Amino acid sequence: MLVIKLPLQKVRRAIKEIYGYTRSYCNVVGLDCEWVGKNKTALMQISVSTPVGIKCFLIRLCKVDIRICYELMAFLRDEDVVKLGCGIDGDFKRLREVDFVIFHPATISFFDLRQIIPATNYQNGGLANLTRQILGRKLNKDYRVRCSNWEAETLSNEQKTYAADDAVCALQILGKLMQELGEPRVQYFINEYKNTVFKQKSKPNKDKKEKAAKIGQNALEEKVKKRLETRDYGSDYFNSASTSVRKEPLYNNCVKLLAPDGEVLSITDKKKADWYVKKGLGELVEDTETSFIVRLKFEPSGRPNTDSEKYYVTEKENVCVVCNEKNGLLRKNVVPREYRKHFPIVMKCHVSHDIVLLCLRCHGRSNELDYLKRARIADKFVAPLGNADLAKAILEPRERRNVRSGGNALLKNRAKLPEKRIKELEFIIMEYFDADVWSGDLEKKASDLPVLAGSEEEAQSFVQHGEKVVASLMTSGGMESVKDFEVEWRQHFLDSMDPQFMPEGWNIYHNHERIEEKLDRERKRADGTFIKPAPPTEKNLDGVYIE
Ligand SMILES: [Zn+2]
Repeated sequence: MLVIKLPLQKVRRAIKEIYGYTRSYCNVVGLDCEWVGKNKTALMQISVSTPVGIKCFLIRLCKVDIRICYELMAFLRDEDVVKLGCGIDGDFKRLREVDFVIFHPATISFFDLRQIIPATNYQNGGLANLTRQILGRKLNKDYRVRCSNWEAETLSNEQKTYAADDAVCALQILGKLMQELGEPRVQYFINEYKNTVFKQKSKPNKDKKEKAAKIGQNALEEKVKKRLETRDYGSDYFNSASTSVRKEPLYNNCVKLLAPDGEVLSITDKKKADWYVKKGLGELVEDTETSFIVRLKFEPSGRPNTDSEKYYVTEKENVCVVCNEKNGLLRKNVVPREYRKHFPIVMKCHVSHDIVLLCLRCHGRSNELDYLKRARIADKFVAPLGNADLAKAILEPRERRNVRSGGNALLKNRAKLPEKRIKELEFIIMEYFDADVWSGDLEKKASDLPVLAGSEEEAQSFVQHGEKVVASLMTSGGMESVKDFEVEWRQHFLDSMDPQFMPEGWNIYHNHERIEEKLDRERKRADGTFIKPAPPTEKNLDGVYIE
């Protein structure tokens, strides 16, 4: 009885202690596991940053049943604590398969250290390699220890330090990188690549895909240039766009929220303003067909101070910002969404500033001009436009592509095709399906062939244009570069469209003041979080050893 109960209590206490550090200090823990052969996980090492250094907990899972270590299970599944390691998905896979414990990948947050290395000047590699490059020390990879008996009655000191170091050095490397890259950038990578299995990118393949996408891009670029010259923005465009023309005005200037003294706090929607009235927190001062104004009965926590904040309380007109047209307006993202969605979180708030109204014609023209700018960006960052499906289609074996298009042609246009061409196509399809005689269902079968190129894995390794561009910016200059990029797009909109009716207060540096303040706060918080790396030794292995 005692033998089982004692370790469980110790595990419980250890997890409680770990939580104490992750909640008040750093929510990333180092994690590694050891096992023997095909047996279940024997040892789990968890390292955690504490104000006085890194502490490592060694939990001998071969001595307890992990399924009844509820606190440990909950901790491993806790999405708020990021588990850091090198190939850590393998550790979780083993826990899942060998211990029959259900760890759904979506409910665990893990981060593979190697995801961040491309952002640094270091070469990617295994943990020992990274430890040598980044921490300048040697990680013990002695196979005699690695292959030792992790299920032994008691572990030797050598085994303990060996095991601990794997979990410790991952955290030390992260600390060093935070010092070098700044905490916000490291956090950015953790957020972006959390729960993503690290894949060594096979270079030649990627180049091939980029080349394929580039071919499509050049052709389209020529078309766009021609359309801009002839001022024909494509009837297709108008047909598809007309369905999304705004029926409601973008700006509802008539609903206002006032401070007790009458200052305009925000231009808001009716539902929100009405809420204050219903709750007795505000009084309705005007409710006519053209305006709905609510004055708060209490002093709000803040008033619009900076220019950025004031922008949201100025009245805006529902007109095309370029030509003043009042009908058939569309929303326009001045900074394209394909980039914005990969921006750091702090730059994703208050984006309504970068949404303006354009009439159909101006919207079409603006999109074409944006396309040319995106094409230039694509060249600069070697990040072709287009998407994974397009690249896949281009990379698909020609034979398979021909069979599908042959099937489509026969299915749709058999009556119009010359007899000779029909025979040719039938022959290609018969060859492909190994059929001796032609039968009617073959053309349907051919036309239904799914687009397929290489493996699914290859297709996934294609990085979308927007994602690649923002990742490169983050790598080269961090948030500053992304901010410059945002300014560049706003400037591009002004230069290319020459809008004469922009809302008052619209500014190409909008919100940057607020972002800087926020980063400053984060930087201050990050000060002093770096712990000087030192390998654990038998003497200073400041940890809890649970046996
Ligand atoms: Zn217009």
